[in-house]
Amino acid sequence: MSLLDHFGQPAIRQQMDVLLEGNRLPHAMLFYGEPGSGMLPGALSLVNDILCTQPVKGKACRNCPACNRASKHIHPDLHFLLPLAGAKSLSSAFYGPWREAIAENPWMNVFQWTRYGDMEGKQVDIHKADIQQVTGDLSLEAFEGGNKVIIIWMAQFLAREGNRLLKLIEEPPDRTYFILISNQRERILPTIRSRCMQIYFPPMEVKEITTLLTEVYEVSTEDAEVIARQSFQDMGRALTLAKNTLMDFKDEMASWFRAIISRKGQDMATWADQMGRQDKEEQKQFALYATSFVRNIVWDFADTGEPENADGKEMIKYMHTHYAPDVWPLIIMGLQQTHEKVTRNANTKLLWLSLSITVKNQLMAHRLQHINA
Ligand SMILES: [Zn+2]
Repeated sequence: MSLLDHFGQPAIRQQMDVLLEGNRLPHAMLFYGEPGSGMLPGALSLVNDILCTQPVKGKACRNCPACNRASKHIHPDLHFLLPLAGAKSLSSAFYGPWREAIAENPWMNVFQWTRYGDMEGKQVDIHKADIQQVTGDLSLEAFEGGNKVIIIWMAQFLAREGNRLLKLIEEPPDRTYFILISNQRERILPTIRSRCMQIYFPPMEVKEITTLLTEVYEVSTEDAEVIARQSFQDMGRALTLAKNTLMDFKDEMASWFRAIISRKGQDMATWADQMGRQDKEEQKQFALYATSFVRNIVWDFADTGEPENADGKEMIKYMHTHYAPDVWPLIIMGLQQTHEKVTRNANTKLLWLSLSITVKNQLMAHRLQHINA
């Protein structure tokens, strides 16, 4: 199964089909919705239909050279505007890492994109120079004489610069399509929003996430079901869990569990203090990492292979043999709740401290008594 045919939002795909078949596809669309709901995969799927030179009922034939190029995102009439660091950076100079990123995880968030683009920790925006470059490109004839498409990914980063696109979006050049993508629609200028057909992407159904994991990413059905349930209906998180391509937090993880197991309040407070100082996105990534780590304890790392480092492996073994297995789902639940609360809470230090104390109590209640080691 290809993501081009099935990106986990069948109702939206159907809506696209109706528009394409009736030759009523608008020239400006805004895909908005929840993170990990498939707005970019949806846009890339539609791009193929738009660029195909031999469409069948408006839909991509998947056979012509244009389809071939579009499916690899190397079609010369497919443009992207991306959030980047540095006012003079041009999206076209980042197409290499961008293609790599969308091949690996088209559900990625901006934070993950900055890692692909080597812009970690830097302020990103969609810059004036880049917008001027792209609008210039769009005014030229299409390279292949057909349609042109521009995807503006995370369009909220246009901010006020979005005004530069107003006229183009209102009266697009011949055979030019704009697809704006955003998980923060309210931050896009109302004048731009109102000129687009807006399509809402709801959180993905758990069963769709399971299907994508098994059919596209070759995860076993058993693993896929567990991951899908832990994904908060966010396919990006599901994929991160499945691929284990999380940021490396093994030191933070080890010191957290050490503080908890030692039951020293001061150590837990110090740890929570440090975690609470991190960037919020990083704190959320830690919660995901810890979830994946605890999952390895549940499965006795049989399904995911050996943990990559000896320290982690030892700790997983220790946890696995010293505590009753019913404790791990409780801890995973606590981590998931903390993950959600990080965004909304001003003082995340207290959040981490409270989770640490809860986990300490849960572990004490589930300690296996017969262990001598
Ligand atoms: Zn085609």
